[in-house]
Amino acid sequence: MSEISRADYIRLRKKGQEYIEEPKHDQTMKKMLDEGWDNLREFLYQPYEDIRKWQLKRVSYLVDYAYENIPLYRKKYDEVSFKKGSIKTWDDFYRLPYLTKEELIEGFPDMIVKDTNDFMLSTRSSGSSGKFVTIAVSEEAIYKDTLQTIRQFYMQSGRTYTKDDTILFIYTCPWWVDNVGGEYKQDFLPTTTKVEQALKRIQDTHPRFISTYPTYLEKIASTGTKLSDYGVELVIVHSEQSNAKQREMLAEALDVKVLDEYSSEELTRIALECPNHKYHLEEDACLIEIIDKDGNKLPDGETGIVCGTNLLNTSTPIIRYIQGDLAKITHEKDCPCGSHARILEGVQGRVMDCIETPDGDKIPASCFMDIAYNWFLVYEIPVHGLKYQFVQREVNTLELYLIKGMYTLDYDVIKESLYTLIPRTMDIKIYTGDSLPFDKTTKYRPVISCLGGR
Ligand SMILES: [Zn+2]
Repeated sequence: MSEISRADYIRLRKKGQEYIEEPKHDQTMKKMLDEGWDNLREFLYQPYEDIRKWQLKRVSYLVDYAYENIPLYRKKYDEVSFKKGSIKTWDDFYRLPYLTKEELIEGFPDMIVKDTNDFMLSTRSSGSSGKFVTIAVSEEAIYKDTLQTIRQFYMQSGRTYTKDDTILFIYTCPWWVDNVGGEYKQDFLPTTTKVEQALKRIQDTHPRFISTYPTYLEKIASTGTKLSDYGVELVIVHSEQSNAKQREMLAEALDVKVLDEYSSEELTRIALECPNHKYHLEEDACLIEIIDKDGNKLPDGETGIVCGTNLLNTSTPIIRYIQGDLAKITHEKDCPCGSHARILEGVQGRVMDCIETPDGDKIPASCFMDIAYNWFLVYEIPVHGLKYQFVQREVNTLELYLIKGMYTLDYDVIKESLYTLIPRTMDIKIYTGDSLPFDKTTKYRPVISCLGGR
C-alpha cells in the first residue's frame, strides 16, 4: 500500500461523492428498504435477548474481518493471541483490546484500511489531540446509515414520518444522498447560513422535520419565530451538548417538539431520545459498553466512559473504541414507546470551555471545533494533522494558535468563518508557531477560556 497525500485525499473524497451519486446505489438502497423496512423498523422492539444474539453474531464477523484485512487490528489482536473464529461468547469479545482515537490518527492511512483507495468514501472528525481522525466508510455502511436515518425520524416522530416528508438538515456538510428512490427527501443548508436565510427556506419549503445544532436552533428562537407557523413539527438536535431544560425552552419558544440525538462520526448513531424522553441505544448501529478509566467493564447503572463498536462499517472497522464521553446504561423494559433497546443516561461531554461574547453569550467549544472541521470541508484547506487552539484572555479578543505545517492557510478565510460564530466587535488574532500556549497538561483542550467563569 502506498501513502496518500492530502491533495490525493481531497480528490478521492470528491470522487467518492460522485460515485455514490450513481443511480445503482439509489436502486440498491430502494431495494433494501422495500425488502427490509419491516425488519429494520421493528428491530429494537424485539426481545432484548434476540437483539443481543444478533449483536454477538455481528461483532464476531466484524472482529474476524478486521483481523484478516486491517493491519492495525492484525497487530493488536496478534498481541493478545487472537485466533479467527474465536468470538463465541461475550466474554471472548470483552477480552479484546480497546481502540483509541490516537491509534486511528497514527494508523492513517495504511494501517486502518485494507486499501488506501477505500478513503474515497470516508469521514473526518476532530481528535482529542487537535488532529483529525479520518476513517474509511464502506458502501454498505452508507446504505444502512441512510436507512437508519429514515427509522430515526420514524421513531422520534412517534411513527408519523412518511416517505413524502422532507427533512431540512442545517449541518456542516450534506449526507451522501438526499433521497431514496425519489422519496424520504433531505434538504440541506450549511450551518454558516444566516438565520434569516434559513427562515426564508423554512417558510418556502415547509419541512415537517429539521435536524440541526442546538446553538443554531437558539439563533432561530432568538428571532421570535414560531416554527409551527411554517408547518415544522419536530426538531432533532445533535453534535453539541444540550440539556433537557434548554430543549424544553426551545420547544416552547418555537412551538415544536425538540428531541436529542447522541452520535459521533466514528460510531454513527449512539442513542436517540424517544418521544418519552429516554435515550435508547441504537443497538444495530453500534454496540455500547461503559468502562472505567482503567479499562474495566462497568455494570449497568454505573457511570463511566462510553466505549463502542460500529456495527455498520467494515472499511475502517471501529471495535471497542473509546468515545470518551461519560454516561451510564440502564435497562428499563417498560418504556411506553415500546423499544427494548437499553437506555443511556446522564450523557456528559468532556468538560470544555466556552467562549464568551461581549454581549454575555457563551459559545460552546464544540462550535469552534466544528468550524475547524469546516476549514477542511468547506474551504478545502488541507488540515489533516493541523493542530490548533483557541484562547480567550479578554472578552473582546479571541486568539487562535496554529502549529506551523506544510500547508498554506488563508487567515482571512479563517477569520470570516469564525465571524459566523462570534460578533465582529470581537478581535481575532491568529498566531503560528511550533507549539500551543496550553499544551503542558496531559489532556489537550482545543478551546481555553482564561476569563475565570465570569
Ligand atoms: Zn422510549
